[in-house]
Amino acid sequence: MNTRISPRPKNETPPVQTPFSSAPAQDLHTRLNQAKAKLGHAKAREGVLSTTIQRYDTRLRELEGQGYVAHAVRRVRAEREQSLFRTVVEKGQEPQTAQGALRVQRRQFSVERLSLPKGMVDLDPETERRANDESKRLATVYRLITPERLWRGKFTKPVGMVGEGTGFGARRVINGQPRSPHGGSDYSAPRGTPVVAANGGRVALVADFFFPGRLVIVDHGLGLYTLYFHLDTIVVAEAQRVERGQPLGTVGATGRATGPHLHFGAQMRAARVDPATLLGLGFLD
Ligand SMILES: [Zn+2]
Repeated sequence: MNTRISPRPKNETPPVQTPFSSAPAQDLHTRLNQAKAKLGHAKAREGVLSTTIQRYDTRLRELEGQGYVAHAVRRVRAEREQSLFRTVVEKGQEPQTAQGALRVQRRQFSVERLSLPKGMVDLDPETERRANDESKRLATVYRLITPERLWRGKFTKPVGMVGEGTGFGARRVINGQPRSPHGGSDYSAPRGTPVVAANGGRVALVADFFFPGRLVIVDHGLGLYTLYFHLDTIVVAEAQRVERGQPLGTVGATGRATGPHLHFGAQMRAARVDPATLLGLGFLD
Protein backbone atom coordinates (compact mmCIF):
# COMPACT_ATOMS: atom_id res chain seq x y z
CA MET A 1 0.00 0.00 0.00
CA ASN A 2 1.23 3.42 -0.85
CA THR A 3 2.70 5.81 1.64
CA ARG A 4 4.29 9.19 1.70
CA ILE A 5 7.95 9.31 2.62
CA SER A 6 8.16 9.10 6.39
CA PRO A 7 11.16 9.49 8.68
CA ARG A 8 13.11 6.34 9.50
CA PRO A 9 12.03 4.78 12.78
CA LYS A 10 14.10 6.06 15.67
CA ASN A 11 15.46 3.97 18.44
CA GLU A 12 16.80 1.14 16.33
CA THR A 13 19.07 -0.27 18.98
CA PRO A 14 19.98 -3.93 18.67
CA PRO A 15 18.54 -6.38 21.19
CA VAL A 16 20.62 -7.59 24.07
CA GLN A 17 20.77 -11.35 24.07
CA THR A 18 21.97 -13.54 26.87
CA PRO A 19 23.92 -16.69 26.02
CA PHE A 20 21.92 -19.85 25.44
CA SER A 21 22.31 -22.70 27.87
CA SER A 22 21.99 -26.34 26.90
CA ALA A 23 18.81 -28.22 27.73
CA PRO A 24 17.67 -31.80 27.15
CA ALA A 25 15.88 -32.49 23.89
CA GLN A 26 13.31 -35.10 24.90
CA ASP A 27 10.66 -32.67 26.15
CA LEU A 28 10.99 -30.38 23.15
CA HIS A 29 7.38 -30.55 22.04
CA THR A 30 5.95 -30.06 25.50
CA ARG A 31 8.10 -27.03 26.04
CA LEU A 32 7.40 -25.52 22.67
CA ASN A 33 3.69 -25.92 23.30
CA GLN A 34 3.95 -24.40 26.74
CA ALA A 35 5.80 -21.45 25.34
CA LYS A 36 3.19 -21.04 22.62
CA ALA A 37 0.36 -21.24 25.13
CA LYS A 38 1.99 -18.65 27.38
CA LEU A 39 3.04 -16.20 24.75
CA GLY A 40 0.61 -16.80 21.90
CA HIS A 41 -2.06 -14.70 23.53
CA ALA A 42 0.11 -11.72 24.37
CA LYS A 43 -1.83 -8.82 22.94
CA ALA A 44 -0.47 -7.00 19.95
CA ARG A 45 0.64 -3.57 21.09
CA GLU A 46 3.32 -1.05 20.46
CA GLY A 47 6.62 -2.82 20.37
CA VAL A 48 5.41 -6.07 18.91
CA LEU A 49 6.58 -5.21 15.44
CA SER A 50 9.99 -4.18 16.66
CA THR A 51 10.17 -7.39 18.60
CA THR A 52 9.51 -9.33 15.47
CA ILE A 53 12.11 -7.50 13.50
CA GLN A 54 14.85 -7.72 16.01
CA ARG A 55 14.30 -11.31 16.95
CA TYR A 56 14.25 -12.43 13.38
CA ASP A 57 17.20 -10.31 12.48
CA THR A 58 19.16 -12.09 15.19
CA ARG A 59 17.76 -15.39 14.12
CA LEU A 60 18.73 -14.99 10.51
CA ARG A 61 22.30 -14.44 11.56
CA GLU A 62 22.09 -17.60 13.58
CA LEU A 63 20.69 -19.54 10.68
CA GLU A 64 23.78 -19.05 8.61
CA GLY A 65 26.01 -22.03 9.27
CA GLN A 66 24.00 -23.49 12.12
CA GLY A 67 21.43 -25.56 10.37
CA TYR A 68 17.73 -25.08 10.81
CA VAL A 69 16.46 -23.01 13.66
CA ALA A 70 12.90 -22.86 14.90
CA HIS A 71 11.47 -20.75 17.66
CA ALA A 72 8.29 -21.09 19.62
CA VAL A 73 7.98 -17.47 20.56
CA ARG A 74 5.99 -15.44 18.10
CA ARG A 75 4.84 -12.40 19.99
CA VAL A 76 6.51 -11.07 23.06
CA ARG A 77 6.09 -7.89 24.98
CA ALA A 78 8.41 -4.97 24.67
CA GLU A 79 11.05 -4.34 27.28
CA ARG A 80 10.68 -7.55 29.19
CA GLU A 81 12.93 -10.54 29.49
CA GLN A 82 11.31 -13.48 27.77
CA SER A 83 12.06 -17.14 27.66
CA LEU A 84 13.12 -18.15 24.24
CA PHE A 85 12.94 -21.75 23.10
CA ARG A 86 15.12 -22.76 20.26
CA THR A 87 15.43 -25.89 18.16
CA VAL A 88 18.47 -26.52 16.04
CA VAL A 89 18.20 -29.31 13.53
CA GLU A 90 21.30 -30.37 11.69
CA LYS A 91 21.00 -32.83 8.86
CA GLY A 92 21.26 -36.39 10.15
CA GLN A 93 21.23 -35.36 13.80
CA GLU A 94 18.73 -35.42 16.63
CA PRO A 95 16.99 -32.10 17.35
CA GLN A 96 18.67 -30.11 20.11
CA THR A 97 17.00 -27.53 22.24
CA ALA A 98 18.38 -24.64 24.15
CA GLN A 99 16.75 -22.02 26.29
CA GLY A 100 17.76 -18.45 26.81
CA ALA A 101 16.36 -14.98 27.30
CA LEU A 102 16.06 -12.00 25.05
CA ARG A 103 15.44 -8.40 26.01
CA VAL A 104 13.02 -6.83 23.63
CA GLN A 105 13.28 -3.13 23.01
CA ARG A 106 10.66 -0.63 22.07
CA ARG A 107 10.82 1.03 18.70
CA GLN A 108 8.87 4.09 17.58
CA PHE A 109 6.91 3.93 14.36
CA SER A 110 5.57 6.88 12.44
CA VAL A 111 1.85 7.56 12.05
CA GLU A 112 0.56 7.98 8.51
CA ARG A 113 -2.78 9.55 7.70
CA LEU A 114 -4.10 8.54 4.30
CA SER A 115 -7.19 9.42 2.33
CA LEU A 116 -8.49 6.73 0.03
CA PRO A 117 -11.70 6.28 -1.99
CA LYS A 118 -14.50 5.13 0.33
CA GLY A 119 -14.98 1.87 -1.60
CA MET A 120 -11.39 0.87 -0.84
CA VAL A 121 -11.83 1.35 2.91
CA ASP A 122 -15.45 0.63 3.85
CA LEU A 123 -15.89 -2.67 2.09
CA ASP A 124 -19.24 -4.15 1.10
CA PRO A 125 -19.84 -7.57 2.70
CA GLU A 126 -18.90 -9.52 -0.41
CA THR A 127 -15.63 -7.65 -0.89
CA GLU A 128 -14.89 -8.00 2.80
CA ARG A 129 -15.36 -11.77 2.54
CA ARG A 130 -13.09 -11.86 -0.47
CA ALA A 131 -10.38 -9.82 1.29
CA ASN A 132 -10.62 -12.06 4.38
CA ASP A 133 -10.37 -15.23 2.30
CA GLU A 134 -7.36 -13.82 0.52
CA SER A 135 -5.56 -12.87 3.70
CA LYS A 136 -6.22 -16.38 5.06
CA ARG A 137 -4.74 -17.81 1.89
CA LEU A 138 -1.63 -15.68 2.30
CA ALA A 139 -1.31 -16.78 5.93
CA THR A 140 -1.49 -20.39 4.79
CA VAL A 141 1.38 -19.80 2.39
CA TYR A 142 3.53 -18.17 5.09
CA ARG A 143 2.98 -21.05 7.50
CA LEU A 144 4.35 -23.61 5.09
CA ILE A 145 7.98 -24.24 5.93
CA THR A 146 10.26 -25.58 3.21
CA PRO A 147 12.96 -27.45 5.15
CA GLU A 148 15.83 -26.38 2.91
CA ARG A 149 17.49 -23.01 2.45
CA LEU A 150 17.02 -21.75 -1.09
CA TRP A 151 18.79 -18.38 -0.80
CA ARG A 152 22.49 -17.64 -0.98
CA GLY A 153 24.39 -14.59 0.16
CA LYS A 154 23.08 -11.07 0.55
CA PHE A 155 19.53 -10.02 -0.22
CA THR A 156 19.20 -7.43 -2.96
CA LYS A 157 16.80 -4.50 -3.37
CA PRO A 158 13.74 -5.56 -5.35
CA VAL A 159 13.81 -2.40 -7.52
CA GLY A 160 16.95 -0.71 -8.77
CA MET A 161 17.66 2.98 -9.35
CA VAL A 162 15.19 4.23 -6.72
CA GLY A 163 15.52 5.33 -3.10
CA GLU A 164 15.17 3.12 -0.05
CA GLY A 165 11.83 1.57 0.81
CA THR A 166 9.88 3.31 3.56
CA GLY A 167 7.01 2.90 5.93
CA PHE A 168 7.48 -0.47 7.65
CA GLY A 169 5.46 -0.56 10.86
CA ALA A 170 3.84 2.81 10.22
CA ARG A 171 0.62 3.11 12.17
CA ARG A 172 -2.06 3.84 9.65
CA VAL A 173 -5.07 6.05 9.96
CA ILE A 174 -7.11 5.69 6.79
CA ASN A 175 -9.96 8.15 6.25
CA GLY A 176 -9.82 8.88 9.97
CA GLN A 177 -10.01 5.22 11.05
CA PRO A 178 -7.05 3.46 12.71
CA ARG A 179 -6.01 0.39 10.69
CA SER A 180 -3.36 -2.33 10.88
CA PRO A 181 0.24 -1.13 10.85
CA HIS A 182 1.94 -1.19 7.48
CA GLY A 183 3.55 -4.62 7.07
CA GLY A 184 6.08 -3.86 4.35
CA SER A 185 8.36 -1.33 2.77
CA ASP A 186 7.13 0.83 -0.12
CA TYR A 187 9.35 1.73 -3.07
CA SER A 188 8.09 4.56 -5.23
CA ALA A 189 8.93 3.87 -8.86
CA PRO A 190 7.37 4.54 -12.25
CA ARG A 191 4.97 1.97 -13.63
CA GLY A 192 6.88 -0.62 -15.65
CA THR A 193 10.07 -0.51 -13.55
CA PRO A 194 11.42 -4.08 -13.31
CA VAL A 195 10.92 -5.86 -9.97
CA VAL A 196 13.46 -8.58 -9.16
CA ALA A 197 13.68 -11.42 -6.65
CA ALA A 198 15.58 -10.30 -3.54
CA ASN A 199 17.27 -13.68 -3.37
CA GLY A 200 17.03 -17.24 -4.64
CA GLY A 201 13.87 -19.19 -3.98
CA ARG A 202 10.78 -20.74 -5.45
CA VAL A 203 7.65 -18.86 -6.50
CA ALA A 204 5.07 -19.84 -3.89
CA LEU A 205 2.13 -17.80 -5.15
CA VAL A 206 1.08 -15.69 -8.12
CA ALA A 207 -2.32 -14.06 -7.63
CA ASP A 208 -4.49 -10.97 -8.08
CA PHE A 209 -5.95 -10.04 -4.69
CA PHE A 210 -8.12 -7.13 -3.56
CA PHE A 211 -5.64 -5.24 -1.36
CA PRO A 212 -2.24 -6.41 -2.67
CA GLY A 213 -3.31 -6.41 -6.34
CA ARG A 214 -1.16 -8.55 -8.62
CA LEU A 215 1.37 -10.25 -6.42
CA VAL A 216 4.25 -12.66 -6.31
CA ILE A 217 5.46 -14.45 -3.18
CA VAL A 218 8.88 -16.06 -3.17
CA ASP A 219 9.67 -18.89 -0.75
CA HIS A 220 13.32 -18.74 0.30
CA GLY A 221 13.06 -21.83 2.50
CA LEU A 222 13.20 -22.30 6.29
CA GLY A 223 10.01 -20.24 6.69
CA LEU A 224 11.33 -17.09 5.01
CA TYR A 225 9.22 -15.45 2.30
CA THR A 226 9.46 -12.18 0.38
CA LEU A 227 6.37 -10.44 -1.01
CA TYR A 228 5.95 -8.22 -4.06
CA PHE A 229 2.58 -6.41 -4.29
CA HIS A 230 0.72 -4.04 -6.66
CA LEU A 231 2.56 -5.37 -9.74
CA ASP A 232 1.55 -4.30 -13.21
CA THR A 233 2.85 -7.39 -14.99
CA ILE A 234 4.17 -10.76 -13.78
CA VAL A 235 6.68 -12.86 -15.72
CA VAL A 236 7.07 -15.88 -13.42
CA ALA A 237 4.83 -18.83 -12.62
CA GLU A 238 4.10 -20.72 -9.41
CA ALA A 239 6.66 -23.41 -8.50
CA GLN A 240 9.32 -21.79 -10.70
CA ARG A 241 12.83 -21.54 -9.24
CA VAL A 242 14.19 -17.99 -9.27
CA GLU A 243 17.67 -16.61 -8.69
CA ARG A 244 18.57 -13.44 -6.87
CA GLY A 245 18.03 -10.48 -9.21
CA GLN A 246 15.80 -12.41 -11.61
CA PRO A 247 12.86 -10.33 -12.93
CA LEU A 248 9.48 -11.22 -11.41
CA GLY A 249 7.43 -8.52 -13.12
CA THR A 250 7.02 -4.76 -13.14
CA VAL A 251 5.90 -2.01 -10.76
CA GLY A 252 2.22 -1.10 -10.98
CA ALA A 253 -0.66 0.27 -8.94
CA THR A 254 -2.98 -2.74 -8.83
CA GLY A 255 -5.01 -3.45 -5.68
CA ARG A 256 -5.29 -0.72 -3.05
CA ALA A 257 -2.61 1.69 -4.12
CA THR A 258 -2.67 5.46 -4.51
CA GLY A 259 -0.04 5.37 -7.26
CA PRO A 260 2.59 3.14 -8.84
CA HIS A 261 4.93 1.63 -6.24
CA LEU A 262 6.23 -1.70 -5.05
CA HIS A 263 5.11 -2.96 -1.66
CA PHE A 264 7.96 -5.23 -0.61
CA GLY A 265 7.38 -7.42 2.41
CA ALA A 266 9.11 -10.22 4.28
CA GLN A 267 7.68 -12.97 6.47
CA MET A 268 9.66 -15.21 8.75
CA ARG A 269 7.73 -18.11 10.27
CA ALA A 270 4.49 -16.21 9.61
CA ALA A 271 5.70 -13.06 11.38
CA ARG A 272 6.19 -9.80 9.55
CA VAL A 273 9.81 -8.76 9.36
CA ASP A 274 11.17 -5.37 8.37
CA PRO A 275 12.54 -6.02 4.86
CA ALA A 276 15.21 -3.39 5.49
CA THR A 277 16.75 -5.65 8.13
CA LEU A 278 16.81 -8.47 5.60
CA LEU A 279 18.60 -6.29 3.06
CA GLY A 280 21.05 -5.17 5.73
CA LEU A 281 22.21 -8.64 6.74
CA GLY A 282 25.83 -9.25 5.81
CA PHE A 283 25.66 -12.79 4.49
CA LEU A 284 28.63 -13.90 2.44
CA ASP A 285 28.08 -15.05 -1.11
ZN1 LIG B 1 2.73 -0.87 1.20
